[in-house]
Amino acid sequence: MTYALNDDHRQIQDLIRRVARERVAKRADEIDRTAEYPHDMFALLKELGLFTLPFPEQYGGAGSLLSACIAIEEFARVCYNTAYLLLVQWVPFGAILSGGTDAQKQWLLPGLASGELRGAFSTTEAQSGSDVSGIKTHAVKVDGGYRLNGAKIWCTNSDIADFVLVAAKYGDDPKSNISLFIVEKGMKGFTVGRKEDKIGARGVPSCPLFFDDVFIPEANRLGGGFKAVMEAFNASRPLIGARGVGLAQGAIDHAVEFVKDRAAFGRQVSDFQGIRWMLADMQMQTEAARNLVYRSAAMVDAGASAAELAPMAAMAKCFASDTAMKVATDAVQLFGAAGVSAEYSINRYFRDAKVLQIIEGTNQIQRNIISNSMLGRPAR
Ligand SMILES: Cc1cc2nc3c(=O)[nH]c(=O)nc-3n(C[C@H](O)[C@H](O)[C@H](O)COP(=O)(O)OP(=O)(O)OC[C@H]3O[C@@H](n4cnc5c(N)ncnc54)[C@H](O)[C@@H]3O)c2cc1C
Repeated sequence: MTYALNDDHRQIQDLIRRVARERVAKRADEIDRTAEYPHDMFALLKELGLFTLPFPEQYGGAGSLLSACIAIEEFARVCYNTAYLLLVQWVPFGAILSGGTDAQKQWLLPGLASGELRGAFSTTEAQSGSDVSGIKTHAVKVDGGYRLNGAKIWCTNSDIADFVLVAAKYGDDPKSNISLFIVEKGMKGFTVGRKEDKIGARGVPSCPLFFDDVFIPEANRLGGGFKAVMEAFNASRPLIGARGVGLAQGAIDHAVEFVKDRAAFGRQVSDFQGIRWMLADMQMQTEAARNLVYRSAAMVDAGASAAELAPMAAMAKCFASDTAMKVATDAVQLFGAAGVSAEYSINRYFRDAKVLQIIEGTNQIQRNIISNSMLGRPAR
């Protein structure tokens, strides 16, 4: 539990753990059940000033990905959706920080940092998710800006967001490069469709987007290009793994409590060796995932190169989310029939873990990144 954490990391861990237990945990089931956006949890994160945590101190952050992973882990341990609120704010923040012009940074970063602004990020389309190069949404240059046409699916936070960073092919040539465009709420021709009814991650909406000849001013094309932003995302991938560690540890917390109280054959369920060994395996796997996540985050903080980082960050995301799925499945098993009942929290860990294996680069794609690095091939 104490892998190479310094006093700053521990301070953040203590603070978030306390807030998570005292103020977040009691809301988690309701957020999951109603699938309503948790405005109160967003207000709490805003009050705590956490929207810049992984970013440089000049933006009010701790400048430490390891600290950010610890915060995500502690929130996900009690409420995946609250942890997700941080991630969806950090994605556009990180993209603009790495790829935005000075003017775009001045325009959007202070608002994202304070929580006055909310953003979303959109690449996925009906015909192409993992294969981003297959997107069809396109922008054509016109006087003073661009005309954007196309449609997206699964854009998380989009019906709350003040703006969406939208990936689109730029130019008439279908093989042309991808750029990111800042599409603002209320722009003529931009609509957000009905939110998906999801099995997990239910508190933060994911919606389709439609662009019907939307005029995008020149100032809204992200400066640094798509590639720079995607490279920055590689560096933030340990955060996705941290959610897996939090989910796994939270599932263990619930399972331990349950088997200590439950009796069968005249004994406590926790007295059966088979059960104790299951618990030990769950904790071992979670601890291994935690070490992989912390190590890859520490590599980011130490300035590791993109080539070193890519396979490590992929391992962290893939192993931690696979561990979350396995541990949550075992935890449901330990609950018996109660694990299947909506009355118990444990089944939401199981559902949220399944989503985590798919989002932010599926676990097959992560395995491609790892094996390509082993074989000396390009990342994908
Ligand atoms: C809750 C949720 C939130 C999301 N939020 C966002 C968001 O905010 N913004 C956004 O842009 N997208 C978002 N997505 C979309 C998500 O990023 C994609 O679903 C994901 O990238 C996979 O794409 P796909 O669903 O089209 O699957 P596909 O790419 O069609 O893949 C189908 C299957 O084939 C496998 N596969 C594909 N290519 C390979 C390969 N080369 N080798 C081996 N296996 C392969 C995949 O792993 C998967 O199992 C979200 C999705 C969910 C579920």
